[in-house]
Amino acid sequence: MTTNLTQRIFLSPPHMSPVDRTLLIEAFDSNWIAPCGPQVDAFEREFAEALDIPYAVALSSGTAALHLALLAAGVDSGDTVLTSTLTFVATANAIRYVGANPVFIDSDRSSWNMDPGLLETELKRLATLGQCPAAVVTVDILGQCADYERIAEICRRYGVPLIEDAAESLGATYGDQAAGTLGDIGCFSFNGNKIITTSGGGMLVTREKKIADYVRHLASQARRPVSHYEHEEIGFNYRLSGLLSAVGRGQLSVLTERVKQRRANFQFYHDALKELPGIEFMPEASFGYSTRWLTAMLVNPDQLGVTADDLRLALETENIEARRIWKPMHLQPVYADCRVCGGNVSDEFFEYGLCLPSGSSLTEEDRERVVKVILATVEQGLSKAA
Ligand SMILES: *Cc1c(COP(=O)(O)O)cnc(C)c1O
Repeated sequence: MTTNLTQRIFLSPPHMSPVDRTLLIEAFDSNWIAPCGPQVDAFEREFAEALDIPYAVALSSGTAALHLALLAAGVDSGDTVLTSTLTFVATANAIRYVGANPVFIDSDRSSWNMDPGLLETELKRLATLGQCPAAVVTVDILGQCADYERIAEICRRYGVPLIEDAAESLGATYGDQAAGTLGDIGCFSFNGNKIITTSGGGMLVTREKKIADYVRHLASQARRPVSHYEHEEIGFNYRLSGLLSAVGRGQLSVLTERVKQRRANFQFYHDALKELPGIEFMPEASFGYSTRWLTAMLVNPDQLGVTADDLRLALETENIEARRIWKPMHLQPVYADCRVCGGNVSDEFFEYGLCLPSGSSLTEEDRERVVKVILATVEQGLSKAA
């Protein structure tokens, strides 16, 4: 048997607190464990209040939220949906679930999110062809909002619904507005690696009662409100359980603290590594506040002497989990046949990018361990090159 004496540092592990445990046990003891009742209602109400938006619907995952958002926006089989190429695959998969075809838009360098200029050019091109897309799905990547002043204006001008995939950016802002509230519908995830977690879960938010009601209907097997089981359309079993809603309430109550802790990770890494040649951290765009859900940086191997993957492997040897940035959708075999607008910017993020351990429970010693490995690896790389 091998024993590793150093404790593994994970990329973004769950960070639970005693209040989550208390609420979970209270829910259990009250017998309101099913996906309805006071825990679910309270989680939805508290979430909507925290984001200053009228309606929130608790769902079983962020992917379920995206799927129902597309249906509620009226996206149909054969439609076109414009989305960011730099994202986790769930965004694009949801578009496929409704039978629509994604067109991928590259990132800009100031936010790493959807480039508004490329979006506008593509919308203009499609409108000229009489093929206006059924929706735009923006992604707020790694804790940072996209440029909504421009993107929302372009969508309004072309009359296209805007869905915001804010799965990675709960707690971020655009101006004084919460991430997830900038489009017609916002989607969140409470997967284990996100800034708050219910082990698994999601939330959909909107300003329109009609949308919230319809999403709730679809999420509960589209059962008509009559005394027997009556169904006029295909629904889904996508509601969040009472137990997990209780956990979500506890997690939500410490969100502000979690954002501060994630930002402190970023600040630590930034201060410790900023003098190294060839390291460039993900910028914080001028229009908003980033949660720094994951601390991400680009590594220029010609200047640094080692690649992003050299660093990842060196960290792994020391039982530290770092990850590359999402591989863009236009490079994924499963989406190889889809159209892409631009692509070089996100290609570059994928090739040179690295995400460092970013959990809100990281200790000062953990972060020092990470930095030490990086500095030692760079030093070795430089001496090898000399
Ligand atoms: C995590 C994530 C999702 C999916 O959320 P799940 O709750 O895991 O289904 C969707 N989009 C993005 C950008 C994500 O990071």
